[in-house]
Amino acid sequence: MADSNLAPEKSFVFDFVERNADAVATIGDSVFYFGELGMQEVESAGLMTETLEKEGFKVERGISGFPTGFCASYGSGEPVIALHTEYDANPNNSQASGKTEKRDITPYGPGHCEGHNCNAAVMVSGAIAAKRAMDEFGLKGTLKVFGAPGEEQLISRPYYVRDGWFDDVDVAIHDHIGGDMSTVYGLTHSAAVSAYFTFRGETAHASTAPWRARDALDGVVLMDMGMAQFREHMEPTMRAHRVIKDGGDQPNTIPAKATVWWTFRAPTAEGARVVFEQGKKIAEGAAMMSNTEVEVVVMSAVWPVRTNQGLAEVIQGNLESVGVPEWTEEEQAFAKDLQDAADVTTDGLKTEVKPLLGPTEQRAPSNDCGDVSWKVPMGRVGFPSNVPNVPFHHWAGGAALATSIAHKGSVAGAKTLAGTIVDLLSQPDLVERAKSTFAEEIGEVVYKPLIPEGQRPPVDLNREMMEQFRPSMREHYVKNKPEFI
Ligand SMILES: [Zn+2]
Repeated sequence: MADSNLAPEKSFVFDFVERNADAVATIGDSVFYFGELGMQEVESAGLMTETLEKEGFKVERGISGFPTGFCASYGSGEPVIALHTEYDANPNNSQASGKTEKRDITPYGPGHCEGHNCNAAVMVSGAIAAKRAMDEFGLKGTLKVFGAPGEEQLISRPYYVRDGWFDDVDVAIHDHIGGDMSTVYGLTHSAAVSAYFTFRGETAHASTAPWRARDALDGVVLMDMGMAQFREHMEPTMRAHRVIKDGGDQPNTIPAKATVWWTFRAPTAEGARVVFEQGKKIAEGAAMMSNTEVEVVVMSAVWPVRTNQGLAEVIQGNLESVGVPEWTEEEQAFAKDLQDAADVTTDGLKTEVKPLLGPTEQRAPSNDCGDVSWKVPMGRVGFPSNVPNVPFHHWAGGAALATSIAHKGSVAGAKTLAGTIVDLLSQPDLVERAKSTFAEEIGEVVYKPLIPEGQRPPVDLNREMMEQFRPSMREHYVKNKPEFI
């Protein structure tokens, strides 16, 4: 529970978020039902920017060539505090909220099965609460609120960093859904490079004259075999995985074009680059063996994510002031039923804030906020809008995302985020501590983007899939708009 010795600015933002719990929920639910895939988050970005603009933020849309990216700013001077998060869904992850069994909203359609819809609600609401406190208490500084498209494909934020959007930023805060109220410091995620490998050959009739063909699909298959051999010699912390995007059209025509999309991961940016370089050699070998040519187009390239100790301490203080939401018996029962259905530990919803126990362990997944985290000190607010233990990108990961659990968790997240911003605006020594711990953390490492020079965002990614499903998804859109009072 919130303690009674809070600074007036802190009580103000906590009360503001509490009073606007409906608006917080409306943003989260709206983005949930938009269910938009990376790079096609038109409705989601539209709602977020419209809401911030109405509140007096100056919105720049389409930044760094991302139609669904934005920067909304408020205030002036130092410190400059950046907030950033993602709001994309995943393919084939449509899941009805509030059900403890797999049930599509739109059959085979995209949907939120991790909770980036709540990330959006927390960032926008937390930013508005902090802005209101700036007005009320004359707090000086600048808020820059970044919408980051295509996190699931690890795309946007390296471009923002490359293009200078973080050059004047003092500290940055990312918010992400989870099963508990927590923050961390240390290296959390891995670096990754992903690329399309397109093999090109020549068609022929597969039964009458197969000897005339140069089979592009053979290139894809041989690369797969080469990568399988290479896996034995990768370090245990490295990963390589792929999907075939285009394997030809019909069996009686040997394909002249075939594309495989590979992701290579490693704990360091240099490690990811090394695995990628070996992948390219294997692709060249596969092209040679299949008498085809191969073209490599980088889709994403991100640094590992690290979070800063100084900011983690500020966030932890706020998590503890806010406290875990009070869950009802029904919410606990739903959580346990869902955990049971997902075949994970059935310990229900967390009732305590996770303690900050020292540096975290680095894990294999990636997030495109990694590049931000090597440019400026970055903290992460983890908020409890999902059921603990449920797997992400699985129907169970989507089942709670527009329920009262998601709503209460987002309120707790927005309060924590706003409280953290208010602390940073009113106590310059906290920003200094973030910077000094950051300098120690990165040591001699010099950040240099992994994305190739001149690289442009893949703006057409997921367009066709979204166009196919959007008309039927539209029937489920939330009708009302968030109103902050
Ligand atoms: Zn995520």
